[in-house]
Amino acid sequence: MNASSDLYLKEMGLGPRWRLRTPVLVEPEPVAAVSAAPEPVVAAKIEAPAAAPEQGDVPSGSRRAAIMAMDWPTLCDDIRACRACPLSATRTQAVPGVGATRADWLFVGEAPGADEDAQGEPFVGQAGKLLDAMLAAIGLKRGDNVYIANVLKCRPPGNRNPAAEEVLCCEPYLQRQVELLQPKLIVALGKFAAQTLLGQDTPIARLRGGVQRYQGIPLIVTYHPAYLLRTLPDKAKAWQDLCLAVQTMRAAGQAG
Ligand code: URA
Repeated sequence: MNASSDLYLKEMGLGPRWRLRTPVLVEPEPVAAVSAAPEPVVAAKIEAPAAAPEQGDVPSGSRRAAIMAMDWPTLCDDIRACRACPLSATRTQAVPGVGATRADWLFVGEAPGADEDAQGEPFVGQAGKLLDAMLAAIGLKRGDNVYIANVLKCRPPGNRNPAAEEVLCCEPYLQRQVELLQPKLIVALGKFAAQTLLGQDTPIARLRGGVQRYQGIPLIVTYHPAYLLRTLPDKAKAWQDLCLAVQTMRAAGQAG
């Protein structure tokens, strides 16, 4: 742990006392400990939308197939031009994601907020500052072997919760992003991202603490940075999650 990690841990509200009790980054657990995680490994799959709203005259099956064939530039252009759901009428701009287009780490949030809608980049507001601190605490940096995306690419007005139809419309984009990125590990930020990626409504308290899977890729669930800003005691749990993510990444690296 270096001085800059200390700084970021401080910003996360985590003092050295807590860190001493959980020195995972210094002494990573053996690989076996990861596979012996308390939560069962869940085969994650987002179901194909049965009757997703259609874009113009394009049937939903064709739209999905077209998205699944897109390269990065085409995908980002398509997201920016998307009119598949009513959020396109209220957004300032769509927010495809940010970072390296081949990255070992993928962080997935819920949906753009006001700042992201204005700037076109995920996690640029207060929650984004905390996310950057969380990344720095485990030696990562936005854009450097890390990609950050949201389940929804457009802002729900008034920051309301995403609607099921909006998720169905947007889901092929995230799926294609995962395929193009081929991350070694996904970190789901918050209940909404976790439940969407895992296709289940299990409470976040039960989803975190173990290694889940999205299409075979290890997935760690942690709290959303915006939630952590309001709920300081859970920052310590988020730190545990990040330590588990690092362990899991190391295990994935060793496996190939
Ligand atoms: N919250 C999210 O889930 N995503 C963002 O991009 C910003 C805030």
